[in-house]
Amino acid sequence: MSRPDRAHPPHDPVIDACFLGPYGENDALLERLTTEFQRDHVYWRRNFHPDDPPAIGTAAALHPDYLAFEARMRRELHRLSAALKKSVPFHSPRYIGHMASDLLLPGLAAQMLALPYNPNNVSEDSAPVTVDMEVKVGLQLARMLGYPHDPADPACAFGHLTSGGTLANFQALRLALALKAFPVALRAAGVPELALPPDDWTAFNLPQPQVIALIEAWQGWLAAQPPAEGRRWLAKVEAARIEQLGLAGFFAAHPELGPPQVLAPVTAHYSWSKGLKLLGLGRDQLQLVPTRGMRMDVDALAERLARCARERQPVLMVVGVLGSTEYGTVDPIDGILAAREASRAAGLDFAVHVDAAWGGYLATLFRNEDGSLRAREEVAAEFRYFPSPELHAAFAALGATDSVTVDPHKLGYLPFGSGAFVCRDHRAVALLAERADYVFHGNAPTDYMTRYRGLGQFVPEGSKSGAAAAGVYVAHEVLPLDHRHFGRLTRATVRAAEAFYTRALAFAEEQAGRLAVRVPFEPDTNLVCLALNPHANRSLAHANAFMRGLFDRLRADPRQPLQTREFFGSVTTLRPELVGAAETCRILESLGLEPDLDGAPLLILRHTLMNPYLIDHENGISYIDRYFEYLARVGATLAGEERAA
Ligand SMILES: *Cc1c(COP(=O)(O)O)cnc(C)c1O
Repeated sequence: MSRPDRAHPPHDPVIDACFLGPYGENDALLERLTTEFQRDHVYWRRNFHPDDPPAIGTAAALHPDYLAFEARMRRELHRLSAALKKSVPFHSPRYIGHMASDLLLPGLAAQMLALPYNPNNVSEDSAPVTVDMEVKVGLQLARMLGYPHDPADPACAFGHLTSGGTLANFQALRLALALKAFPVALRAAGVPELALPPDDWTAFNLPQPQVIALIEAWQGWLAAQPPAEGRRWLAKVEAARIEQLGLAGFFAAHPELGPPQVLAPVTAHYSWSKGLKLLGLGRDQLQLVPTRGMRMDVDALAERLARCARERQPVLMVVGVLGSTEYGTVDPIDGILAAREASRAAGLDFAVHVDAAWGGYLATLFRNEDGSLRAREEVAAEFRYFPSPELHAAFAALGATDSVTVDPHKLGYLPFGSGAFVCRDHRAVALLAERADYVFHGNAPTDYMTRYRGLGQFVPEGSKSGAAAAGVYVAHEVLPLDHRHFGRLTRATVRAAEAFYTRALAFAEEQAGRLAVRVPFEPDTNLVCLALNPHANRSLAHANAFMRGLFDRLRADPRQPLQTREFFGSVTTLRPELVGAAETCRILESLGLEPDLDGAPLLILRHTLMNPYLIDHENGISYIDRYFEYLARVGATLAGEERAA
């Protein structure tokens, strides 16, 4: 079946209302909204106790100290405003560097609206409104991912916001460790009448659904004990938990077990290294699995797992990356789940976490309004290449994983300070509670929403921004996370990436005899990399020098006016020790470079195609075409400089 022509994808008018716009086109709309709600906030203050007189006198603004303060404030604000002019122009279709773009108006306006109320989402005491919104954001994301999202369902998912993907990944590690170690603690405490695993190894390798069933059985048993007896058993179990003993104490008490490993692809974000350091397991426990075309090699994973099972090396978690930070590639999540099935049969179990900090929102393209999954053919009809069967299978498998990281501040087009962690079954989260006893009180808050209003109990942070939560919640209400709503944005970016990819292939032909141009691996998402090498050059060092010259013109430089930059891009490297020898040789040879596995890593350009106006239909401008014209020009200039030198 032939696909419709998507070289010049049609324009979607809804997108015109979504952002402030590259030129600030929607300035009047944003101004109206901010003024309206700022006034509204003032009325709220006045209507609290309308008979309380103003505490700041009407003549206060005439006092010299007041005036001096105002003058200082103005001066500093003007300085700040002037300094910020050096900021990176994320809003511009000339910005195709890192994972940032324009901000969704509903999210921005909601956050600005909520800021003066200053809600603190640590608990409902300081955020009676926005803490609910944060829990609902968890449900909105759960629905997008294919997790149970009805709070009336005992196995409903749970999610919350974090400062970013780094902390969400850390929360995933914390939760996985808590679940893994809890059955061992129940055994150590010798809780009677529960069906406990026969030995520590089995307890440490219990599949998560069974751990959750055990937590429930334990809670039920505890509630049936006389209060004093219940308190005694609770203290006993708490004393045996890894959270109480620490890693050293726990593993000393269970010599059959050793510190578990985390298996992640070589493309994993460096937050995983940070997470293992923070957890105290150490980086040695982070084992990198090789990739093929920058996607996790599931055969290599299966081999590692078989070895771990043989050597009785526990595994805490296997991380699948859904949209790698450097290349946008997607791991076979379905394949990882299949590898776990096989591993379970060998007695080795672990959590499957998906790091979808980047690609999570692409799930909107696969989701119908009623929450069901769209068939691949239906999605494919809207694109030229997207999605490959492998990609569709990876997204379809999300609902069977244990937890996911998604960054609203990346492909969610929301302000920085919003990452999210979502786990499939909220009952697991009881193990994260800082005060375990509260779950077991006679008057324990059993209702889902009520329980999570004490959010600070479960999250790594304490005080946290309720305004940020309001921004994410409102954006998702305005653009629900399915293909007909939010999907309009993700569809536009994937189409832009396809247009970019198509243009890159044509560019490679045009440049023959001047520059070798290659797309080193097929893009899965809206990140496209380009490798360049001056024609007939065989030296890797020389190719990298050429790339550095190019990148010098594509990066933010605070010493130069912004306007001297035509485009913003980013670079990444291909390191042979991560990419693998065969893959490195293939890429180097395709560029005409001497295979050099001991040499420096190869620098490549990395483009994030998030901006909804990369193709400007209003004026008939393609910033993608302009970018490639720019690359041709700079390439020729750099080559000319070389000849002159
Ligand atoms: C960005 C990213 C992270 C880290 O998220 P922050 O929000 O920067 O903390 C983790 N994993 C992946 C795949 C990412 O792209």
